[in-house]
Parts: sequence; C-alpha cells; structure tokens
Amino acid sequence: MSGKTALSKSLILKGMQCPKALYLQKNPPAFEFPPQPDLEAKFRAGNEVGILAQQLFPGGTEVPFEGLSVLEQIEQTRQLIDDGAEVIYEASFEYDGIFVKVDILVKDGDAWQIHEVKMSTSVKEVNLDDAAIQFYVLGNCGLLISGAYLVHINNQYVRQGEIDVKQLFAGVDVQEEAFLRQANLPKIIDDLRSALQGDEPQIDIGPHCSDPYDCDFVPYCWQHIPDNSVFDLKGRGIKKFDYYDRGIIHFEDIPLDDLNKAQRQQVEATLNEEDSTDPKAVKAFLDTLWYPLYHLDFETFNSAIPKFNDTRPYQQVPFQFSLHVQHDAGAEPEHYEFLAEPDVDPRRQLIEQLLDLIPEDGCVLTYNQTFEKGVLRALAELFPDLAGAIDKRLENVRDLMVPFRRRDVYRWQMRGSYSIKEVLPAMVPELSYSGMEIADGMAAMQAYHDMCALEDGVELEQLRKAMLEYCRLDTLAMVRILGELENAIK
Ligand code: SF4
Repeated sequence: MSGKTALSKSLILKGMQCPKALYLQKNPPAFEFPPQPDLEAKFRAGNEVGILAQQLFPGGTEVPFEGLSVLEQIEQTRQLIDDGAEVIYEASFEYDGIFVKVDILVKDGDAWQIHEVKMSTSVKEVNLDDAAIQFYVLGNCGLLISGAYLVHINNQYVRQGEIDVKQLFAGVDVQEEAFLRQANLPKIIDDLRSALQGDEPQIDIGPHCSDPYDCDFVPYCWQHIPDNSVFDLKGRGIKKFDYYDRGIIHFEDIPLDDLNKAQRQQVEATLNEEDSTDPKAVKAFLDTLWYPLYHLDFETFNSAIPKFNDTRPYQQVPFQFSLHVQHDAGAEPEHYEFLAEPDVDPRRQLIEQLLDLIPEDGCVLTYNQTFEKGVLRALAELFPDLAGAIDKRLENVRDLMVPFRRRDVYRWQMRGSYSIKEVLPAMVPELSYSGMEIADGMAAMQAYHDMCALEDGVELEQLRKAMLEYCRLDTLAMVRILGELENAIK
C-alpha cells in the first residue's frame, strides 16, 4: 500500500458529502451517539441483494472480506485475474492508498466490466461518483475497462415462483459519466487528505447534513440547535438554512410575516402554550361518522427482493391488523387482531378475516386513509373474487387525521404535526408509545422480518406479543382521540 492516508470508496464518498464527516469518522469525537437500531438490518438486506445479484453472472469466485487482510484480498484478486478467472465477486484493488471492492467484475475479451449493485430503484447522482471511484482505481491498477454498470432494483418486476434475477435487476451503463468524473478525483482526494491532517474542519451545519445521505454525525454537529428552532417549522416555503445563516434560530426570532398560516399558528401556539378548537368544524367531521365504528390499522412490510408471489420489490405487503369496534359514541370498544404466521403469504387470510369482522355498511375509521385505502385497493386487485366486498368497505372509510390536518383542533404540544405519534400524547397524555419494545411502523416492519428469521420458541412468542401490543395501541389511540374530539364539542 502507498504511504498516504488509507481511504476506501465509502470514506471518499463520505468526504465528498462533507470533509468534516470524513474527519470525524477517522477521529471519533468523545461523544455518546444514540444507537442506530436499523443499521444491522440495512446491512443484512444489502448483503442479501448483493449475493442474489451475483447470479446475474454465475460461476464466479468471491474474494471474502472477513478473514482476510486488505492486502490478502488484493493479492487473491490479482491471483484470480492471472489464473484466467471470468467472473470475480468482491474483487479488491488498491491504488494510491485507495481501496475498493467491486461487487461483480466480469471478463470481456481483454478488458473487464464493472457491475456495482445498488438497492435503490434508479440511478442516483451519488452512484455516479461511486462508479467513478471504481473506474479510477481499476484503471490505474492497469485494467482495461470496457463497461461500468450500476445494477439497481427494477420495481416493475412481479415475482412468480423463483426469483428471476434478470427481471429483478436492471443495469444502467454509466461508463461515460464515470470516465468523465474520474478526472476530478485526484484533486478531491488530495483535498480530503489535507483536511485529515489538521484539526477538526470548521464546517457548519447545512443542507449537506442530509444530502445525499443523512449524516451519522448529526447528533454531534447539531448540539447547539435548541428545541423550537426554525428547523422544527413544519410545511414548505421557508428556506431554513437562510434563516440560520442570518442568526435567526429560535421561534421567538422568526418574523411572523414570513410564515404561512399554519406555521404562524405553530410558532404562536408554542410560544404562548396555547391550544385551539373549532367546535363547529369538529362537529361537522363527527357528523360524517356513524356507529358501529371500526377503528382499523394495518402494518405492512416491504423488501427489495419480493418475498411472495404477486408482489413487486418494495411493495407494501400487509401482515397485521388491529380493529377496535365501538357500538356507540363513548362505548368501550371490542378488540380484534390478526398477525401473520412467519414466512406465509398472509394476504388472503388477513382480508377474509377483516371482511368477516367489518360489515358492508360499517363505518371504517383510519388515521391517514391514503395508507389503509392503498392496502385495501391492492388486496382488491389481487383477489378479484373479493373486490366487490372490499370496494364496499372502501366507500365507508373515514379519516381521523382530517380535523388535525385542517387544524380544527390544535394543541401546542403537537409541534405543527398531525402525525398520530404527536397527536396522541397531546390529546391523551396518559396513553403513550414511549417505552414500548416496538414503537413505530419502521420497527414493526423490522419485527416482521425478524419474526420470519426466528425459530419457534420464547423469543418468537415475545416478539409476536410486542407486535400485537404496538398495533393494538394504534387503534386504541384512535378510540381515545375520537373520545377527546367528542368531549371537545360537548
Ligand atoms: S452533521 Fe453535517 S456538518 Fe456535521 S459532519 Fe455531518 S454533514 Fe458535516
């Protein structure tokens, strides 16, 4: 290896987003970062996609990451090339202290094709830099490159039986762009290395903290941003960093005339700790409901590799519902629930049970109807024999989010949001998601994947219990919030 500071492709990409992020990665600050629970799951999912993509060019040899030093990985790659390998997975190269691994390297006459696998459904700007770094290092290692491809997920693919890798993945030729971009790399890399020599770079927060990726160091760099800052303003139309750059950070400092109506209400309500209710509008909303009332919530999962037949990559597949049924206003509800068995397509069973529970003329209450209606429509499309019955329920869907989105009811603790996660603690403080093992939809989705990976046993039972508790709270929250709306107009 060269004597220069060793860098990998991902470190260079990090540095291109923000040199300070690269510096902090190499020189971790004395700071306690909150855990990132989904990191391992993301890594696992990426790995699974990468391994499947290898089938696009079967019969290759993998240069493993684990168990080999960087030098050994590079030597093994060189050996495979010398021995006439046609396809190499995770081929490893180093030039000028920059180490890269190529997902799939394919022999093409005297030259080689680079195939870089991505979990996204299209090619993004940052992926072109990614390909350029590969191109730069391999070219300087003496390889003739005849093609550079970004292989991404084709979200139009519908699974039928075994996964068809040729349909699941789509390759985009980015050779020309990669070639052009590599010309800038020596200077970029030199600048990054210089930044690493000195003290922590003095780079302020900015749009680069989340573009193209959410930076890992946000908790560290954003410590000086207080609660109720310009960054907490909801809605569009405000260039937040323009205000920050002018020293306008606290709600108190933001000129109210610059804000739209909803933002103004958010700021004023927060500063004065003031709530508001429009009883007429709330009553008009309540008048659109009837009893018995069916409070419904679905949980869904998605995955890059479709898990079941008749699903596309990243399609939301329902695996759970919770249903609270109220026969009269203010009545204690009955509760029903469904949770899929691991690894079994749950959709037919789920919708049949739901149709049994909700009569054709039942009023179905959701929180954010777009989501629940989308799930129901997809099920109607999948099961034409049930489409008529599902359509009848669809006609009767109402949305409890409406009075909060319209700000018919506003509590200053909602922080400008109408998400149920903000509305519930503001409206019903005694009911809360905090402290729950599963406390949001993302965690529920991950729990589904974990459930499918677990063997029968105590751990599986505990996980299923936590999943049921979470989904149950979602509809119980709706019952209680509705009760508060009814109280508000009394
Ligand atoms: S949080 Fe922002 S300023 Fe800090 S390292 Fe990351 S991108 Fe740079």
